[in-house]
Amino acid sequence: MAGIMVIFDFDKTIIDVDSDNWVVDELGATDLFNQLLPTMPWNSLMDRMMKELHTQGKTIEDIEEHFPRIVPAIKSAHALGCDLRVVSDANVFFIETILKHLGIRDCFSEINTNPGYVDEEGRLQILPYVDFQTSSHGCNLCPPNMCKGMIIERIQASMAKEGKKRVIYHGDGSGDFCPSLKLREGDCVMPRKDFPVWTLINENRALVKAAVHEWTDGEELEKILLQLIKAITIEESQMLSVECKFHTMSKAAHGALPQALPVPY
Ligand SMILES: [Mg+2]
Ligand SMILES: [Zn+2]
Repeated sequence: MAGIMVIFDFDKTIIDVDSDNWVVDELGATDLFNQLLPTMPWNSLMDRMMKELHTQGKTIEDIEEHFPRIVPAIKSAHALGCDLRVVSDANVFFIETILKHLGIRDCFSEINTNPGYVDEEGRLQILPYVDFQTSSHGCNLCPPNMCKGMIIERIQASMAKEGKKRVIYHGDGSGDFCPSLKLREGDCVMPRKDFPVWTLINENRALVKAAVHEWTDGEELEKILLQLIKAITIEESQMLSVECKFHTMSKAAHGALPQALPVPY
């Protein structure tokens, strides 16, 4: 096992589009969307748009605009023993549907996102990850319905118990900045070049403890991710063998010590 946690944002990171915007564009309901946008939070708006999509008899089964090489990259990371997770402000319905469609759902051990479900009438309902009507996550870097930094902190807390040490985080949006700040030395953040999180990281380099590796397309993401996994795995195995040697040496040294004289009584 590599002991590496690989975390992916979803929209514009695993797929090359914004799944929410895709739905809106597909509907051709941009006017309605722009009209409603200032009046309600993103989640409620998407919920409203899904109602519209449903009445027009459309499904989201065919969002296929994922990055070339992203599927093999994810499969390789999984095969190398990494623990893969999604942290996304899209919704569980879009993500599950698309990951299953791409044949990589089973590569992920956890999907952290806004819950959604299909009601009795077959209409998708989307709920916020944090119910901001009743409680606040208290982070001013993040939108009211989700603080990805809090999700990372929870994952980090569970990692120690599972013997995992390093995080590699991929993202593109401004919502990926807060979790990037939670990463530690030895971790890696992979911001998509020329996207909001990349700009925020570059403007606040001193605040970021993780190593920064930018990427532009799926091919580059695959190359860098697999190189990082390889490098970390080698480093960890060397550390392990040093620890082993040290352990053997100290045991040998211990054995070489003269036996304490039995105290006569
Ligand atoms: Mg994104
Ligand atoms: Zn936050």
